[in-house]
Amino acid sequence: MQLIGLLGGMSWQSSAEYYRLLNELVQDRQEGLHSARCLLYSVDFASIEAMQMEGRWDDAAEALAAAAKVLEDAGADFIVLCTNTMHKVADQIQAAIGVPLLHLADTTATVVKEHRVRRVGLLGTRFTMTQEFYRDRLASHGLEVLVPEEDDRQVVHEIIYNELCQGIVRPESRARYREIIRRLVDAGAEGIIYGCTEIELLVDQTDSSVPVFPTTRLHCEAAADRAMGAGRVRRPRLP
Ligand code: GLU
Repeated sequence: MQLIGLLGGMSWQSSAEYYRLLNELVQDRQEGLHSARCLLYSVDFASIEAMQMEGRWDDAAEALAAAAKVLEDAGADFIVLCTNTMHKVADQIQAAIGVPLLHLADTTATVVKEHRVRRVGLLGTRFTMTQEFYRDRLASHGLEVLVPEEDDRQVVHEIIYNELCQGIVRPESRARYREIIRRLVDAGAEGIIYGCTEIELLVDQTDSSVPVFPTTRLHCEAAADRAMGAGRVRRPRLP
């Protein structure tokens, strides 16, 4: 089994999910006490979040590339960057290391297409919902991407940073996400990408009338497949 390098802490709430899911996936596929071989480099999110807010993306790229290098030097066979948003600097991270970065938008798009969904609603931070780095990557797989209107984007973004990244899960926020998902479906979305690694702490398939694509779980499935040397394992139903 390959050694997985998790680059996390953004936030640690979702990194903990990565750790749990990866271990469950590896354990489920084998008899006995198997668990995932992995390393975790967990950053101090406050410093990265400040760089995001100030638009200092090159500084963030440098910090995350240095962390990825630590994982590589410690023996990681590939890197899993445990945040959608920071895939904005995925190319810079990849350029700094000699092992592959398992790109989260690619692993997500692969599963969206397997479900024969082409027009997809995207929820995430305002960076992920509005900037090209993520939308264009999905579009390069042939997907049409819909995002919520400005007011709804604000709600989605604030709930991520002010609640979910701090481990706060409120039924009122779930209800608001549910309404926003409904509006995306009304606008033509055939599926919904939970494009922030904390969103699946708040909502699941029961909050949507169309298939949902939870990026943390899908990223973990792709990482487990890769680490265990399997081709992509097709799974009929999403949780
Ligand atoms: N974990 C989140 C994401 O998937 C947001 C936190 C961050 O900005 O990295 O985008």
